[in-house]
Amino acid sequence: INNLPDLLFYFPFRYEVLTRTDLNEEKTMIDGLLISDPTVFYFNYKKNVLKFKLQIKEKVINVHIYNRAFLRPRLKKNITITVIGKYNSEKNTLVASDLLFGPIPEEKKITPIYHQTAELSNKKIINILHKALTMVVPESVVPSEIEKKYDFIPFVDALKETHLPTNEERLNKAIMRMKYEELFILMLKINFLRKNKKKQGLTRAVEFAKVLSLIKSLPFGLTPDQEKVIQEIYDDLVSAKRMNRLLQGDVGSGKTVVAILAMYINYLAGYSSALMAPTEVLAQQHYQTIKELVPHLKIVLLTSATKKKNQIKSQIKEQKYDIVIGTHALLTEDVEFTNLGLVITDEQHRFGVNQRKNLMNKGTMPDVLYMSATPIPRTYALTIYGDMDISSIKTKPANRKPVTTMVKTYQDLKSVLEMMFAELKKGHQIYVIAPLIDESEKSNLESANEIYQNMVKAFGKKYQVGLLHGRLKGEEKTNILNDFMSGQINILVSTTVIEVGIDAPRASMIIIYNSEMFGLSTLHQLRGRVGRGDLASKCILLTEKATARLKILEKTNDGFLISEEDFKLRGGGDLFGNLQSGDMQFKIADIKKDYSLLVKAKEDSAIYLDEKKQTPEIKKILNEVAKLA
Ligand code: ADP
Ligand code: MG
Repeated sequence: INNLPDLLFYFPFRYEVLTRTDLNEEKTMIDGLLISDPTVFYFNYKKNVLKFKLQIKEKVINVHIYNRAFLRPRLKKNITITVIGKYNSEKNTLVASDLLFGPIPEEKKITPIYHQTAELSNKKIINILHKALTMVVPESVVPSEIEKKYDFIPFVDALKETHLPTNEERLNKAIMRMKYEELFILMLKINFLRKNKKKQGLTRAVEFAKVLSLIKSLPFGLTPDQEKVIQEIYDDLVSAKRMNRLLQGDVGSGKTVVAILAMYINYLAGYSSALMAPTEVLAQQHYQTIKELVPHLKIVLLTSATKKKNQIKSQIKEQKYDIVIGTHALLTEDVEFTNLGLVITDEQHRFGVNQRKNLMNKGTMPDVLYMSATPIPRTYALTIYGDMDISSIKTKPANRKPVTTMVKTYQDLKSVLEMMFAELKKGHQIYVIAPLIDESEKSNLESANEIYQNMVKAFGKKYQVGLLHGRLKGEEKTNILNDFMSGQINILVSTTVIEVGIDAPRASMIIIYNSEMFGLSTLHQLRGRVGRGDLASKCILLTEKATARLKILEKTNDGFLISEEDFKLRGGGDLFGNLQSGDMQFKIADIKKDYSLLVKAKEDSAIYLDEKKQTPEIKKILNEVAKLA
């Protein structure tokens, strides 16, 4: 809190509604007659306790209240006072945290409760706010015509009500008004950014027929959703509008081929493309796939493991390649592109906002495509991704068999091992995911090791077991994964480093230890490692106790539904990592609960992108945003 507006928008996180209670240990609020002159005892340095007797109907109790010696002159015998605190029946004493003069008011007393610090008690915060509210009158950004439209209580009154509540009905209206204020400002900025980003981009004279002939040469027919998305991307790329598009599709829905076709369109127009993936293995996998599907294009892989980096970098600068595939290594300053027309980020939620921007800035005005396997809950789609167009692949290729998911407890471990054996006999492969014990990599490694030893004990005579974890060097990791992909390893025990994008079509089973530790979306991603070919596949979720939450995964394979559930249960941080959810800190609105208000704010604020309609407050905000963008 740096200034008065910060202070005024420091909202209570809850309200306490006090009504008359009986005497009880938890929270007592009761009034009675003061029947003794109070006495004050001083102790330690500057501390004191005030004691008196209070008569409540027939009963007389002792009341102690700390550090209120200054109240003594007002506490006269035979007045009625109200005390709030905890009552100890053995000692017949109520230790009061607060004291009000007079009987309990008929109207309920609502106390705002703020987040506090050791030095700043709730009471202090309330006092400071009372003062502040008499000093400044902040301006609302929401125009008055909108206040009228919803019959809102005036902004300043609403602000006061949130800190000095009078009654519940009015308070609820006030909270709504303040939430709307916050969401209106947010959506105004997002609408503005979205409009601004649609500025001039590259145009490409490419006939769709050429794209179609590449599609015809693919080893499979595209799904209707893939076709629709490619059309959307094509339209963006040929038009002068700059593409800023998010492609979301469940694991295994076939996003890679869409990326390839986009890069092909870009290539036909004479530009180069960059594709960035979050891991070495994934980048390598993309490299292989792309080489197979568009063999006549010049393609290069650039990761930290790449040899002759400098040579490749200078070739990239000379536009010797049509497609550059890589990891974070693409982001280093000395990687320079010429005619970079299209930038694609795979598994985009694995990258921070700045990393993604960094890649984009390597071209002059490249079109941008982000891909994500984590479907975005509605509110997020409107907010953190509100400045993007969104394409979705909702159905998977037809040959897919659904993954059968089973929640099992450790008592069932024997039957799980039998199921594993049956898969191995068929020549299929298995992932075993070791638990995520805590933040420390070391203990995760220990548990992975233990499971690895057990798997070797159970299957080691006949089958190869591999162990993959975050402590391995890049090259070791790649070797193990390659052995798994080629079928030399039958069972791969791994920490969650495996999570992203690996495509091993002979893997038909995944077993996840301590599955209760993971978010539903993460579990869904993990099980997406199997069922990628045409094998019927199984996912076993091991846990102490089968909960309703985990059982959601037995019932549905719909990633969109799962991410909504996860979002309700755990919030956005787990879905997007801190980098992104950190952008979304609200002072009063609750993105999980206020969706309909958000939609209204989005529609209402869009009107004010028209300069003629802009109030000075709105102009000021948009100027600030324009400076940042
Ligand atoms: P993701 O969307 O998770 O990145 P991928 O692009 O890796 O999925 O695709 C998963 C697998 O599905 C790949 O082996 C790919 O070749 C295959 N695939 C993609 N599209 C189709 C399709 N239309 N028909 C059949 N298989 C497809
Ligand atoms: Mg992928």
